[in-house]
Amino acid sequence: MRIILNTKSLILWAGSAALALFALPAQSFADRDQACVQALWPAAKAAGIKQETFDRAFKGFTSDPEVVEQANYQPEYVKPIGEYMDRLVSDKRIETGKQKLAENQALLGSLETRYGVDRHVIVAIWGVESNYGTQPGNKNVIRSLATLICTGTKPSFGKVQLIAALKILQHGDISLEAMNGSWAGAMGHTQFIPTTYATFAVDQDGDGKRDIWSSIPDSLASTASYLKRAGWQSGQSWGYEVVLPKGFDPKRVSENTLKPLSDWQRMGIVRVNGAPYPRPSDKASLFAPEGTRGPSFLVLNNFRAILHYNVAKSYALAVGHLSDRLRGGSPFVHPWPTDETHLSLEQRTEFQRLLIAHGLMTGEPDGVIGPATLEAVKTYQRSKDLGVDGFPSLTLLKALQREPPPPNVEAKPTAEGPPANVGQDDTGGLAPSPEGLTSVPKN
Ligand code: CA
Repeated sequence: MRIILNTKSLILWAGSAALALFALPAQSFADRDQACVQALWPAAKAAGIKQETFDRAFKGFTSDPEVVEQANYQPEYVKPIGEYMDRLVSDKRIETGKQKLAENQALLGSLETRYGVDRHVIVAIWGVESNYGTQPGNKNVIRSLATLICTGTKPSFGKVQLIAALKILQHGDISLEAMNGSWAGAMGHTQFIPTTYATFAVDQDGDGKRDIWSSIPDSLASTASYLKRAGWQSGQSWGYEVVLPKGFDPKRVSENTLKPLSDWQRMGIVRVNGAPYPRPSDKASLFAPEGTRGPSFLVLNNFRAILHYNVAKSYALAVGHLSDRLRGGSPFVHPWPTDETHLSLEQRTEFQRLLIAHGLMTGEPDGVIGPATLEAVKTYQRSKDLGVDGFPSLTLLKALQREPPPPNVEAKPTAEGPPANVGQDDTGGLAPSPEGLTSVPKN
């Protein structure tokens, strides 16, 4: 579950947090944090938190500047949706997901029976949320949430989530030390924030604890429980890739227009494989994020259920498509557009290969544009007296391709430090969704 923030509010938070951070000397930070914690006690007590739990949770508390930084992060490079999809539905993630399906066959079968939620979508959410539990976030959730409150970064959200987090701690589902998650308190394999955990988490393995941090049965059951409550319909697809009739402009149709599939069919919008719609009366809306230049989709009830996890349609598309690929489905028939600002996976990989060859970054090229790539692009732009925006454009790729073969250079780490960002699953920035929202990194 990613926390979606309004861009305008982010800018405001950035301003107030910067004031809060830089106006005070170190001792004042400590005083502010202590006063803040004391001020939190009455609400915690009223919610049934015991003094012992509260004291344990805040022993030695100091606010975490990284949380403020991450909460205020705004991507300098806005990923086109095609790049976002390539990253989340990569060959590696499909391959690992298939292994997870095989390893957890019996569990997933029992979840399908109990919740009516398809095993492929459960595993797809697991893959997209935490890369199958390998990237759950490593920040203490109590500290992160209290930081969001005490620094004024996101106090309303923080207060509600902190009370829910203290209840989890008091119940003994997880120790304080192991209660980790993202900067925004999204926790464990499923990336549930504390209030979502309170409502939807499940003790599948029956040990009396709802453990989404280390129990795979509890985590996958929690995801299934959430999707069921979000209205998942058993045995139905999330949607279909479609062909638009010639001259049809999808931008003239609101993404909120819901019509039966039979109506869309009458308008000439059919599945790419030519198969009929299995339930023509199902209500669908048209989603064509790149207009006529990329693939188009008719999305159904289960797509809307996935949006309960994260309101970005690109997220729901990634989960839906990954679930199809895990089931053995094919890539989209229509490619995402490529042009000056939309490089293909091959072009991005080639871009990184050239940056590495010229000693501007290190690592293995993987086509995922992360901070190290952006920094290397800037270094190249500076060296050529070009405008420095770090944007990996087609013009720059061609310029790099025209460079004479590099001498045998020793690759240097980029200015940002270790070159780990190549190959790292960097959340980066995603193009703002049509709702005007932007997703921010989890950790
Ligand atoms: Ca359990």
